[in-house]
Amino acid sequence: MTPRRLASAAVLAAGLGLLFALAACGPKTESAAPEPSAEPAADVTYTVLASELDNPDNNPVYVCPMQEHREQVSLDPEARCSLCSMKLVPLEEAKKAWAESEK
Ligand SMILES: [Zn+2]
Repeated sequence: MTPRRLASAAVLAAGLGLLFALAACGPKTESAAPEPSAEPAADVTYTVLASELDNPDNNPVYVCPMQEHREQVSLDPEARCSLCSMKLVPLEEAKKAWAESEK
């Protein structure tokens, strides 16, 4: 065996070792994938129509942007829909979006 062949054999072995290492750590990186948001929906969400919400001070009302979830309302701007976990948006904004989608 010439020194040159020895060198290429070493490179090949190193390459195989690298491949093996990559394959071995593959599943690990996959399990480190971001977990689905476990953030619990704030329990400040009410299941009523915005117009039926107990809101004597006439505070801004927030609602799920999904029209099907229009009964997920809250007075908390940080609240999330208890059905789909989307961030609630101001009622007026949602109404505009719903009107657009009905055109
Ligand atoms: Zn929703």
